[in-house]
Amino acid sequence: MNYDDNNIFAKILRGEIPCKKIYEDEFVLSFYDVNPQKKIHALVIPKGKYIDLDDFNSKATEREIVALIKGISKVADKLGISKSKGKGYRTLANISEHGGQEVPHLHFHVFGGEKVGRMVE
Ligand code: AMP
Repeated sequence: MNYDDNNIFAKILRGEIPCKKIYEDEFVLSFYDVNPQKKIHALVIPKGKYIDLDDFNSKATEREIVALIKGISKVADKLGISKSKGKGYRTLANISEHGGQEVPHLHFHVFGGEKVGRMVE
């Protein structure tokens, strides 16, 4: 499967669709999920064209990988839900069909602001 340049996050990265930005650096963009599942629901995505975590881990540079993983903590800090600034959070990435991935651009969900609940429903 090739990367789809018309997926919604690619359009956000190109500035064709607006987002409520939380954080941005050279390699990472974070914004609020348009359909929040918890009190706080953010998304953290790489700026590079990666379909999912497996694609990312096989093709991304070490700098991109470090930036994305660290980006999750930076976003949690900024939102006041990290362990040091708040009460914790959950991050998850859906991968492909069985993972329930809808948007084919790698993204980590960040849920918090309240107890997130059961790990898998
Ligand atoms: P997934 O099922 O893991 O692929 O999650 C895709 C997520 O993207 C869902 O939680 C959607 O609510 C979210 N989403 C879709 N379109 C947008 C958008 N334009 N801005 C922000 N979040 C979006």
